Amino acid sequence: MRLLGSMCGGGAFAFASRFLAASLGALLLWGLACAEKTPLRRRNVLLIVVDTLRRDHLGVYGHTRDTSPSIDALAAQGAVFASAYTTAPWTQPAVASIFTGSYPSTHGLTRIYQKLDPGQITLAERFASQGYATEGIVSHRLVGKKFNFDQGFERYSDEDGMRHNAISTEKVTAKAIGALQALATGERPFFLFVHYFDPHFAYHDHPEISFAGKGPGRLRQGLLPMNAMRDLTPPPQRAERRFIIERYDEEIRHTDAGIGQLLGSLVELGLDDETIIALTSDHGEAIFEHGWLGHTIQVYEEVLAVPLIIRPIPSEAAHRVVEGRVSTLTVAPTLLELAGLDAASDRFQSASLAPWVRGDWDKERGERTPVPRKPIFAEVDYRVDGTEPSNKRARKQVWIQGRYKLIWDDLAGVAELYDLSGDPSERENLVQTKPDRVRQMLAAMRAFHETLEASSEPAQTLEPTQEELEALRELGYVGGTDEEESAPSGDDGSGRGS
Ligand SMILES: [Zn+2]
Repeated sequence: MRLLGSMCGGGAFAFASRFLAASLGALLLWGLACAEKTPLRRRNVLLIVVDTLRRDHLGVYGHTRDTSPSIDALAAQGAVFASAYTTAPWTQPAVASIFTGSYPSTHGLTRIYQKLDPGQITLAERFASQGYATEGIVSHRLVGKKFNFDQGFERYSDEDGMRHNAISTEKVTAKAIGALQALATGERPFFLFVHYFDPHFAYHDHPEISFAGKGPGRLRQGLLPMNAMRDLTPPPQRAERRFIIERYDEEIRHTDAGIGQLLGSLVELGLDDETIIALTSDHGEAIFEHGWLGHTIQVYEEVLAVPLIIRPIPSEAAHRVVEGRVSTLTVAPTLLELAGLDAASDRFQSASLAPWVRGDWDKERGERTPVPRKPIFAEVDYRVDGTEPSNKRARKQVWIQGRYKLIWDDLAGVAELYDLSGDPSERENLVQTKPDRVRQMLAAMRAFHETLEASSEPAQTLEPTQEELEALRELGYVGGTDEEESAPSGDDGSGRGS
């Protein structure tokens, strides 16, 4: 039987010392108590991040199309956070927040072609320091080794960090299952990070999934490059928009099948009983809700709202829906606490949600206790440094407090205010009718943001080689488009072999 070091290890000693004042008698009592305790079993941790996964396109979150049977089955075993938010509307700052438990302004990785500062402490490092085997498998170059996202991982596979017009779920799943097979034979508990990419544009046709038929109207030859679809005049009509959504949903269903295989292998390998599983996303996707397609520069709900599902080890798990807004900043401290490790760090800018995952507080009070009502903050400071001028820039901050959501556009000097309880689709900008509310929220948000920036460590900007510049340009990262776009010339829908 593989066992984690028991609670009677160094952490418990520090605890005992602090609270029992390390007298000889207290130490004696501590020693006796420990001798009787059964050591904790090892608790592995599997963290799955699906790129560009809108919360509202999963069955568990109310989507009517059957996009996510595997994710829904996972959700049925664990805690579903009804209202989770990312910290940033694009990959690098958002994943860096999940890894470090801090906002982009603090961890410093806010712009394209920056690397995660080595002075940061990543979740993988925290697990490694507790004797865990750590492994990462990713399919997107922006979370690859080049940008230091492998910090703290013993093994990190980013060879399939790929072009946007490729389908990567099969490769990622196969590698992750191979990793589990190897980790299952080891003596150490493990932390495995798996990053799926397929819901990201381009939205490929999956013939085995029949959500989308033939394209209508101007999309009868298939989807167009992202910029071309954005520039359609007039904007995509209802049938065209529905077709885009159907193709996006096919990518989700395809990814879900891979996740189902991965979770099935946990059971087959006998690891499920001792593994904590978390699933979230780095950001969602706008599909013309506010006149735009994609992510990176918009901060409406379709981009910031993400799924967050956490299943503790099965003996502690039960299905529960946790209401209240939370940030993906909570992922790191929550996973550490669920694993029985020290989740306290002055670098974490959010507390652990483990009590709500396990339902501890339900038992104590006999009722569901809401998560602490803290404002949600998210931000984007997107521009291309060290490459060439780009017209794709955004510097915005978001502050959600009570029923209201404030968006501040720093470059335009313009605010937007929405009432999320009465207007969840953010249709009616209340900035003119509620000036006092705007002033109050803006002041609170700025004060908060300043404290983050004060603790910031600027990330290093890399100088891309000419070859890398070409690759970035091909992918649309530079040269007037945003982070994550491809420009397929016509889409044959296969996406394979590229
Ligand atoms: Zn992303």
